[in-house]
Amino acid sequence: MKKLLILFLAFIPCFTIKAQTTIQRDPQIEKMVNEVSKDSLQSYIKKMVSFGTRSTLSTQTDLSRGIGAARKWVLSRFNEFARQSNGRLTAFIDTITLPPDGRRINTPTLLGNVVATLKGADINDDRIFIISGHLDNMRSNVMDGVGDAPGANDDASGVAAVLECARIMSQRSFPATIIFVAVSGEEQGLLGANYMAEKARKENWNIEAVLNNDIMGSNNSNETNIINNTKIRVFSEGLSILDTGKNALNIRNLGLENDGKARQLARYVKETGERYVDNLEVVMVYRNDRFLRGGDHTPYVLRGYAAVRITEMNENYYHQHQDVRMENGIQYGDLAEFMDFEYLRKNTCMNLCNLANLAKSPLMPQEVKVDTKKLTNFTNLSWKTSKNGKVKGYYVLLRETTSAVWQKKFFTTDTKMDLPYSKDNYFFGVQSVSEEGNESLPVLPSPAGR
Ligand SMILES: [Zn+2]
Repeated sequence: MKKLLILFLAFIPCFTIKAQTTIQRDPQIEKMVNEVSKDSLQSYIKKMVSFGTRSTLSTQTDLSRGIGAARKWVLSRFNEFARQSNGRLTAFIDTITLPPDGRRINTPTLLGNVVATLKGADINDDRIFIISGHLDNMRSNVMDGVGDAPGANDDASGVAAVLECARIMSQRSFPATIIFVAVSGEEQGLLGANYMAEKARKENWNIEAVLNNDIMGSNNSNETNIINNTKIRVFSEGLSILDTGKNALNIRNLGLENDGKARQLARYVKETGERYVDNLEVVMVYRNDRFLRGGDHTPYVLRGYAAVRITEMNENYYHQHQDVRMENGIQYGDLAEFMDFEYLRKNTCMNLCNLANLAKSPLMPQEVKVDTKKLTNFTNLSWKTSKNGKVKGYYVLLRETTSAVWQKKFFTTDTKMDLPYSKDNYFFGVQSVSEEGNESLPVLPSPAGR
């Protein structure tokens, strides 16, 4: 037990846990977070709105209007960042021509995702982390590609966050690869994300996390008139589509229905986001998306990747998927004047610190086991070192079965730990930790003799 260093105690009365951590911020990440600029975010949004409409069905040949001009502009921004990246960042428009689908595509349509890849510096590290927002938008009628659709919040806000992260992160080097993507065809049925997720699956990309940002820069609700810019939601599903058969049996036996890949990622996003961003609470919502609604993380989720949706706390439906108009004294339409750029700045910082912490972390520990040879009130964990990356040590995480978040973190340089906490009453996980303290995603132990 001497080797245990209890880094923090998070128990507070009634076991309602608020993350309280003495884990230091990584100064490199803190510096990047401080570089996120409200003004740049605002200027990106102003520019995207200036294309009049970014409907996937809008003109692709006009130089200043429509989705074609908009994606060329995003590419030009990525290329500008690439020029200062010492060759690390490369960008292109990944296109596919989609046939009419009898639903939301009425004529063969060229679809283009604007993709920038910040290649990892470690050639033995094939992990990929993705940040996504959708460039396309819609009017009240999703088939109308002609009339104005500003789409400032849905989803120029997400694309602005993607651009700002690319601007800052491309000036640094990370062991793992980060992909920044401005997707098209979201409003026509998640078409661009489907295309990219399917490509990833076919080409066996080792995607460890997808952060999909969609509607994240406005702070108030209509009807209920809530105004708040200190909370952001992260949506995650509890179980993965791969959790069937033997996996499902294991989950039922061990009570792991709240520990699927996406949920685990959401927990990580909350802890890391709250570590680096002041005056921001990351609120986990235990469902894949808002009630009966969809987003670009879902095509990844459906292929077994850990993907979450990041969305503002309160949505204003007067400003979402609405033609710009005045009606009964209410201004409808997704206009930039309804945005809160300080809130968008914080939400962008939340993405950036998570991407950076993940991309700087070592690979996850391997073969994490909990000893079940005999009945004991101790929990005996063991694991093997990460396959790659400089590992300073490991965190063993612990939480009560009813707790949404990890409550304690124990550091060790060893590859085993015996804890005086019963595995009957707690969940455990193990993370690899880099020299600078960046944690991998956790691995939950599987039962085994030791
Ligand atoms: Zn959207």
